[in-house]
Amino acid sequence: MHVLVLGGTIDGREVTRALTEAGHDVVTSLAGRTTAARRRAADTVIGGFGGPEGLARWLSAERIDAVVDATHPFASQMSHHAAAASSATGVPLLRLDRPGWVSHPRAGTWTWADDHAAAAAAAADLAGPGGRVLLTVGRQPLGHYRGLAHVLARVAEMPRDARGDPPPQPPGWTIVEDRGPYELAAERGLLTREGIAVMVTKDSGAAATAAKLDAAAERGVPVVVVRRPPGPGGVPRVPTVAGVVAWIEALGSSPVDTEWGTTPGLPDEAFEHDGLITKRHQRAGALAFLRPLPRQLLWDVGTGSGAIAVEWARAAEGARAIGVERNPERAARARRNIERLAPGRVDVIEGDALAAIAGLPAPDAVFLGGGVSAPVLEACWHVLRPGGRIVAHGVTIETEGVLAAMFRAHGGQLARLGVEIAEPIGRFHGWTPLRAVTQWSCVRHIPLDESARPA
Ligand code: NAP
Repeated sequence: MHVLVLGGTIDGREVTRALTEAGHDVVTSLAGRTTAARRRAADTVIGGFGGPEGLARWLSAERIDAVVDATHPFASQMSHHAAAASSATGVPLLRLDRPGWVSHPRAGTWTWADDHAAAAAAAADLAGPGGRVLLTVGRQPLGHYRGLAHVLARVAEMPRDARGDPPPQPPGWTIVEDRGPYELAAERGLLTREGIAVMVTKDSGAAATAAKLDAAAERGVPVVVVRRPPGPGGVPRVPTVAGVVAWIEALGSSPVDTEWGTTPGLPDEAFEHDGLITKRHQRAGALAFLRPLPRQLLWDVGTGSGAIAVEWARAAEGARAIGVERNPERAARARRNIERLAPGRVDVIEGDALAAIAGLPAPDAVFLGGGVSAPVLEACWHVLRPGGRIVAHGVTIETEGVLAAMFRAHGGQLARLGVEIAEPIGRFHGWTPLRAVTQWSCVRHIPLDESARPA
């Protein structure tokens, strides 16, 4: 697999090493902020891509198979750009999200701030007029803390102005350059020697910088922690480097199964289900209209057992799916089916359909398996990418009305799938009908560019 690792962190380096050792062709990219980064050579691209569009162009030009976002939890812009570029190109994206300090045993004793401005205000309160604040938030957000009078800021690399000189600091401020990992004894010494009254840090969660939290607890120094910015929705996440390798391997492995193959229409018994499953004949019919294509994304809204999402992901190389399910028990069941039949290729999001799909990457196909409401159908239709396919099934008269209205408004095909299965009646056999499904299927065509029309 040709993998792009968005790095700039220790995690990024470890992901690159682990994937290279596993035989993948890895390119690492760095923002190029630090001198060490700028010195990196082969298989490393330095500097930004020029926003999401630039990254999307680069992914296509370099024929990248997958992207691993291992940037720092506070490098939120890059994560959003990666999500947008993945959505635009269909190149699968995984986020390596190392656990934060929210689960630290002393997390409840710290002051949590939503952003740097709030952290600065909290630090000013806690430090009082003469108190010295230790800032370990990196160099970029230092501007938010300018209102603090007595500061020791520790940064990995000194801020520089355009000429490469350290800019003048406010009186009462000292900036020191240092890189982790930091030892507990040294952190204790720093707090005592420098007379630190309050410490401010970000919820980076890195083991290499955790000693300061223990030192602060021992010295009774209050801690202010800036919460992580929310990342983009709909991106699968793993907490470890091993998880990244497993995800890439699952993505790369050809989904060939010697018993069943990859043609849609697996037996119902292949799935753990509670009866609410799109039955085999009707499922195969739905997938024929959804048309799984390599690296494309399906939303399976009301995923139930996850059967449609699983079959979609198995049918084309690199195809991915997001299942949305309101019922936690069914969501857990779908995850078990995915783990067995299409590991790493389908995510399940729990929640109400309308709320859950907001913010997901735009789909190439959408399946709605039942209990379809007009607002959900319309919302899905309008975010469907050009050339995208929608298939909606209904078994009730009410849903049939909704599907007929969509058919009138957008065209496509309306079909009724009646299936009867021969079952024993005593020594003989008779037809047992499945509940008939009304199916609306439609392709969202690319609008014709006026300028491209023949005169
Ligand atoms: P950011 O705000 O998310 O990104 C700003 C811009 O920098 C991006 O739009 C992108 O430019 C470019 N960029 C960022 N990461 C990149 C990468 N890995 N490869 C190529 N371009 C990248 O990021 P930031 O907070 O400035 O952080 C910059 C780098 O330092 C990241 O790689 C991050 O992992 C690392 N880092 C950050 C922190 C932190 O606290 N923020 C801490 C430790 C390490 P384009 O839009 O032109 O593509």
